Amino acid sequence: KVSVHCRNVRLSYGRTEVLKDVNLDIEPGEFFALLGPSGSGKSTLLRLIAGFNPHQHGQLLVDGKDVTGLPPWERNIGMVFQNYALWPHMTVWDNVAFGLVERRVEKAALRQRVGAALETVGLSAYGQRRPNQLSGGQQQRVALARTIVIEPQVLLLDEPLSNLDKTLRVQMRQELLALQRRLGITTIFVTHDQEEAMTTADRMAVLDKGVVQQVGTPAALYDHP
Ligand code: ADP
Ligand code: ADP
Repeated sequence: KVSVHCRNVRLSYGRTEVLKDVNLDIEPGEFFALLGPSGSGKSTLLRLIAGFNPHQHGQLLVDGKDVTGLPPWERNIGMVFQNYALWPHMTVWDNVAFGLVERRVEKAALRQRVGAALETVGLSAYGQRRPNQLSGGQQQRVALARTIVIEPQVLLLDEPLSNLDKTLRVQMRQELLALQRRLGITTIFVTHDQEEAMTTADRMAVLDKGVVQQVGTPAALYDHP
């Protein structure tokens, strides 16, 4: 289990400061929610941690090591996007296997790991389907399986439930939390839904206009505002 620390992380697009000296300490194994209104910089911060955006100031420490400037594939970080970004022409099995094929994992190990990942998300019977033959919740589980199969040290979730209807969202929230507890992966969960953050997170940060306004447990932030 690894920690994630942001030290004075700043980012501007042109003259627009999107992140202003963000300092965050995320503990090993923690389920950490990043809450804030649309446009507050949540996705931008997540993409910086993932290494997708190289233009950054300050320091990003993962497991105590400075990963500033390291490319995504050297960070051992898994990210799940809002729209899942599954390959429509590939089967569920091949979607989940993709990251392992890229990493040249040998066949026997690949089969074992893809099988285990699909089992973890309850989709063992769906390997030969295509994404458009699945429900929204099932597609969400494929996206999760595809990410956990690479055994990331840190799991980044960018509004992963926002495309689901309310009932499914509440159900998937519980599934996600149970999965995170089982795997123990340090997890950063981005949402603009306060209830979602409060019902899942060990701790949360409230971001507004690129500034971290508050950090604490849901109880500390909302029982005594
Ligand atoms: P959130 O995830 O909280 O909705 P974002 O991180 O997506 O917020 O965006 C924060 C701000 O940065 C917004 O004002 C957005 O318009 C701006 N922004 C995001 N990406 C870019 C980009 N590639 N170029 C210019 N501005 C951007
Ligand atoms: P080979 O190349 O030896 O025929 P692969 O391992 O490449 O076998 O698998 C071929 C296809 O079969 C894959 O694209 C995948 O869709 C599917 N597949 C392989 N193993 C499984 C499995 N255990 N469950 C579901 N689908 C599988």
